[in-house]
Amino acid sequence: MKSTTKNSVTKGIVQPKSAAAEGLSELFKDSLKDIIYAERALLKSLPKMAKNAAAPELKTAIEEHVAVTEGQVQRLEQIFELMGESSRGKKCEAMEGLIKEGESIMEETQPGPVRDAGIIAASQKIEHYEIASYGTLVAFAQTLGEDKIAGLLGETLEEEKQADIILTESAYNSINFDAASEDQQ
Ligand code: FE
Ligand code: FE
Ligand code: FE
Ligand code: ZN
Repeated sequence: MKSTTKNSVTKGIVQPKSAAAEGLSELFKDSLKDIIYAERALLKSLPKMAKNAAAPELKTAIEEHVAVTEGQVQRLEQIFELMGESSRGKKCEAMEGLIKEGESIMEETQPGPVRDAGIIAASQKIEHYEIASYGTLVAFAQTLGEDKIAGLLGETLEEEKQADIILTESAYNSINFDAASEDQQ
């Protein structure tokens, strides 16, 4: 039963594709391609979320994050230029999924404070994905000695953290309470 033993060892081990990353700098480049795709996908989806937000402060916060996101895409393009790489993205499955989840939460909520609470929930999942991604990218850049690039990525990381704080504040200050008061007695 030799083959069974071998199978149990290799079972579940993912076979790498031929272009699979061999070092951290390749993994870093792949991760940059993932996040630029994610930011570009988000740029297309944020205006719809802003349009569906009823509370003026939420609408404004999302609209402002559109402008911030445009700057983040430009910052990434600058990073690719510094690295002498094309800024072509690679599909980010996670952001595609988070955006889809945002779309379905809108379908599943009545417009007004309840939909607003859902939009905040979906947006914070997106921001947390970005915070995790940029945190990793800063760490990779630092390890690789790319200090200038680490600094640029760090600027974006701070913007994503700020966006998350603004969303938390609008939820706690009013929107969640307004949504709760829509519940049937
Ligand atoms: Fe972003
Ligand atoms: Fe991704
Ligand atoms: Fe989910
Ligand atoms: Zn963001």
